[in-house]
Amino acid sequence: MRFHVITLLPKTIEEYANSSILGRAQKSKKISVKTYDLRKWGMGKYKKVDDRPFGGGPGMVMAVKPIYDAVSRIQNTVYRIPKRKTRVILFSTRGKLFTQKEAKRLAKYDDLILICGRYEGVDERVAKHIADEELSIGEYVLTGGEMPALAAIDAVSRLTPGVLGKNESLEDIKGSYPVYTRPEKFGRWRVPKTLLSGHHKNIDKWRRVE
Ligand code: SAM
Repeated sequence: MRFHVITLLPKTIEEYANSSILGRAQKSKKISVKTYDLRKWGMGKYKKVDDRPFGGGPGMVMAVKPIYDAVSRIQNTVYRIPKRKTRVILFSTRGKLFTQKEAKRLAKYDDLILICGRYEGVDERVAKHIADEELSIGEYVLTGGEMPALAAIDAVSRLTPGVLGKNESLEDIKGSYPVYTRPEKFGRWRVPKTLLSGHHKNIDKWRRVE
């Protein structure tokens, strides 16, 4: 799985993606997270990537051309490798909700091109003509698409074979279940007896119920 992230803040993405499990997964080539600084495709002397909204209104809008150029550049590289399954995703507050089900769907692709918006949003032609789909990570407005992109990279990577170093993660059993570790007793708070019993059938049952 290769993630291509188009962003104005590449370091934000790299800092997280190069740490811990994702960092190790990159080193062992299970995944790759490559950032593309949109400013590189900015327009004119000042490498402008935004402009005022037609029809007025507050803030600035990310222009279509730099994003078109960045995506084309990535596609020209990616598509040189035949038969790679690629998807272009724009993070947007109006997108489809990103859930574990969507993560599983996206994990089937070879390359995901992720576009992070900023400012008041992105020229609608990106959603209409460049992106294959729009995703939202929840009903709230963030300042940019970097956290949504990292959420998608993280969730999809966990589903990529070899990233977790074992076949089963907690979520495979039942979405998630309560977990405990030592000490058995923390003041008056105790670990449920079933988990200490060593009886695996009962433990599985407990996890499915809780
Ligand atoms: N007025 C804009 C709107 O509702 O589309 C808000 C734009 S927001 C300040 C800037 C960028 O952050 C968006 O273009 C999008 O890429 C990203 N973003 C913010 N909240 C998001 C969310 N909940 N899910 C996905 N992307 C989000």
